[in-house]
Amino acid sequence: MTNLYSDSHKMLLDTGQYRAAVALARAIIPQGRRLPGAGPRTVQAAEQLAEEMSAGGGLFFRHLVTGLDWLAVLHTGSRFHKLGPGERESLLRSWERSKVLYWPLFALSGLLKSAHFDHQEVYHAYGMEHRRGGPAEKVRWVSQVHRGDDWDPGEPIECDVVVVGTGPGGAIVGKELADQGHAVVFLEEGRLYRRDAFTGSVLTAHSKFYRGQGKVASWGNTMVPVLMGRLVGGSTAINTGTCFRTPSWVLDRWCEEMGSDELSPERMAPHFERVERALEIGPSDAELIGPIGDIVARGCERLGWSHFKIPRNAPDCDAQACCDFGCPSAARLSMDLTYIPKALERGAVLLTETRATEILVENGRAVGVKAVTARCQRTISVRAQAVVLACGAVPTPVLLQQQGICNRSGQVGRNLSLHPGAAVTGLFDDLIECYKRVPQGVGVDQFHRQGVLLLGAQGPVNFAAHLFPFSGQRLAEVMDDLDRVTTMGVLVADSTQNGRVRPGLGGDPLITYWLQREDLDRMHQGMVHIMELFWAAGARKLFPLGHRMPVIETEAQLDAFKSLRVGPTDILWTSFHPLGTVRMGKDPSTSVVGLDHQAHDLPGLFVVDGSTVFGPTAVNPQLTIMAMADRAAGLIAERLD
Ligand SMILES: Cc1cc2nc3c(=O)[nH]c(=O)nc-3n(C[C@H](O)[C@H](O)[C@H](O)COP(=O)(O)OP(=O)(O)OC[C@H]3O[C@@H](n4cnc5c(N)ncnc54)[C@H](O)[C@@H]3O)c2cc1C
Repeated sequence: MTNLYSDSHKMLLDTGQYRAAVALARAIIPQGRRLPGAGPRTVQAAEQLAEEMSAGGGLFFRHLVTGLDWLAVLHTGSRFHKLGPGERESLLRSWERSKVLYWPLFALSGLLKSAHFDHQEVYHAYGMEHRRGGPAEKVRWVSQVHRGDDWDPGEPIECDVVVVGTGPGGAIVGKELADQGHAVVFLEEGRLYRRDAFTGSVLTAHSKFYRGQGKVASWGNTMVPVLMGRLVGGSTAINTGTCFRTPSWVLDRWCEEMGSDELSPERMAPHFERVERALEIGPSDAELIGPIGDIVARGCERLGWSHFKIPRNAPDCDAQACCDFGCPSAARLSMDLTYIPKALERGAVLLTETRATEILVENGRAVGVKAVTARCQRTISVRAQAVVLACGAVPTPVLLQQQGICNRSGQVGRNLSLHPGAAVTGLFDDLIECYKRVPQGVGVDQFHRQGVLLLGAQGPVNFAAHLFPFSGQRLAEVMDDLDRVTTMGVLVADSTQNGRVRPGLGGDPLITYWLQREDLDRMHQGMVHIMELFWAAGARKLFPLGHRMPVIETEAQLDAFKSLRVGPTDILWTSFHPLGTVRMGKDPSTSVVGLDHQAHDLPGLFVVDGSTVFGPTAVNPQLTIMAMADRAAGLIAERLD
């Protein structure tokens, strides 16, 4: 993404649209006591952002502005920019209450907020440094890393194991096999970034580090954005660092359903221990977690609920709060900083910006991978004794379905769980400064057996405004008080795995997922629990992250929220944890890979990533994927000459 605040962007708005856009921006993000208000620069940056997000994005932005301007004429008889501040504010409020008009306003506000809050003036208003990417560290074992376009061996590469994808699944299998002396080649569709690229900018992160620029979503009775990384290190390079073992009751259930004790807590324990040691997993210091730790403890003590400090893989964390946009200080031990360099040190080779497009099959066996390079679209072939697919729970089944392989069971792409999440923010009297803290340092496990986990979800300055799905004076007021707000998220373990991933238009994934009434009710209940917790800890206001949801300021309003019947489109959902789309099992008629991760239909092909995780983990899944990969490496090694 180019610099959104450079003067080089030529706006395409005509004069009337420009006036309307600036007036709308000023009304949506007004000047506060502390918050710098939006203006022409915000509009310019938002238009540029819309254009960079998709082919028709700029046009969409201009239509939104024109549409809302005409709505102003319909409602008041005047163009938006001709209205006084009070009239603009009350018009925004009436649109926010409308079932239909809420949506264009929400879309325009989202673009304006993204553009405005990523600006240095806003950062400085909160006493924060802007764009603080770390120094560009030396890439370790750089001689082993090549951009696919620069690699021209002239003939197919020969190795023992080709690993597609460098997230936790791929990185760990590749490193463990390289450690045992096997020749390993990694193929990664994304780029290798050094620390200076991780500046904390939400916009840069989405455009460069996220799959589909962060716009991949599931469709069904609501829309759920499904976030995934597309860079060396996979999603671990842009994740929050929370590391939970799979709960033993979840592993026990899997064993029962699979009719095997291969993944029992006892048999998985050594694999968890190895990864936990390698990634120095442990809870954060209370000081880095910040006042949310006291708030959660206070609320839980009053309610008699159990809470805990979250184990994380960030031993040197300096609490920059922007984990999900890439760690600027290399404190969080993602795969690009740990397993991948170690594998390269042991002789593995990494080809970046190289997308696997086909599994090479000979005599009914997988013998390698065909890939295409990002810029020149050159084909590279890698031949190997074992092929490991580790592209993640969405890309892996798409690749298999595009080639029409490994699907005798009809299960490829099915059984998707999303572990949907939502959030609630509270305003307190405590000085919290959430943007200087660990985002996810504490949790509440009181309702965990019901599949409801409450976790800290604090964020940096440039993300905070998105936690308040409203605009105008209410937004300015709460952003002025940003020092005193904190957020917790709810994660709900899916009651069914009804989601499905298929190849869609142009090869992009088509994801379908239907939120079940039971999950919706548990999400509502989880949001209520956060509200009860925050209220018991002394919150003054509560902000549920939903569309057209009320701000809660009294106990009576809290009671009213409890009895709301929430619909699937009322909540602002997110999924960070897609799983389960390449089912593991003993029976080839109902599963795609065996308990050794090898495809039933194609010997030599192993799938080791979130897609082979058997069912919802009820916790953030990276440590499950890592431990399963550690186990898989041993099983693959047994099958190599
Ligand atoms: C913002 C965010 C925050 C999260 N926070 C946490 C957390 O705190 N704790 C936790 O447990 N989990 C978290 N997760 C989830 C966790 O990161 C993922 O579950 C995990 O990384 C998935 O591992 P994977 O190996 O299946 O795939 P990924 O990590 O997604 O890696 C797959 C890799 O394969 C590459 N690839 C895909 N297709 C191809 C192809 N055809 N050719 C070559 N390469 C390809 C991709 O570019 C990617 O780099 C978070 C996820 C996100 C997005």
